[in-house]
Amino acid sequence: MSSRVIRARMSALAGVATLAVVTATLTSAASPSAEADQQTEKRESVHWSYHGRTGPDRWATLSEDFAACGEGREQSPVDLPTDAAIGASSDAAITIDYRPVTADLVNNGHTVQANVSPGSRIVVDGTPYELQQFHFHLPSEHTEDGEHTAMEMHFVHADAAGDLAVVGVLMEREAGESAFTDLWPNLPTEEGGEAAIDEAFDLTEFLPEGRDQYRYDGSLTTPPCTEGVRWIVLDDPVSVTPGQVTAYRHIFHKSNRPTQPLNDRVLTFVED
Ligand SMILES: [Zn+2]
Repeated sequence: MSSRVIRARMSALAGVATLAVVTATLTSAASPSAEADQQTEKRESVHWSYHGRTGPDRWATLSEDFAACGEGREQSPVDLPTDAAIGASSDAAITIDYRPVTADLVNNGHTVQANVSPGSRIVVDGTPYELQQFHFHLPSEHTEDGEHTAMEMHFVHADAAGDLAVVGVLMEREAGESAFTDLWPNLPTEEGGEAAIDEAFDLTEFLPEGRDQYRYDGSLTTPPCTEGVRWIVLDDPVSVTPGQVTAYRHIFHKSNRPTQPLNDRVLTFVED
């Protein structure tokens, strides 16, 4: 049942019933199969968010499956301190080999995610990872010397074993040219909304020209916060216009997990 229908029923009954009674009426009126569906849905997707009682500092308490969000020692995102990163030879730079892609966009309630057609990949220390999807956060999740940029883009890749490598691109608010002009009008604004981009477009336009990169071992930045993710964050940002930032903020007001302790991990800076 949509929340719109529930709201309509509530307002229709508002004169004669309290909220609690309305809720009970709706529950008992639901068919057994609808209730079973709701229970299945609850098991499959525990509600989490970026603020309040279901926000980042509570994720670990929302489900046993989210334990890593609280106990993990190699969590993402992290701050990228320009002075403390350990320099590495350019041999350690990843190779980015993106091809023109088509994409299916979906608003999943946390981000706008673009599931892309196959054929694009990165190579990390000799291992190829195939690009699966890209998505956005506002403001940025990674910080550089404690400073956020307006947004951050994540390109999520998987190797043959299913292990993940994510390339993070910081998006700096800047008036003028933006690579996102064609994409932005397609972003689905409603949760569950979808849009298809059937004409192949060039993903490399979303990357900065400079490929200096931070590398570290981290996690998913959303529940279940699974570790074992290889992170590559490009040092140079790309531009996003103030209007595009505002438009995205109207879809998701805030969608960044706070930075996590580096603990005993090594943060490497690779000049490409
Ligand atoms: Zn992300």
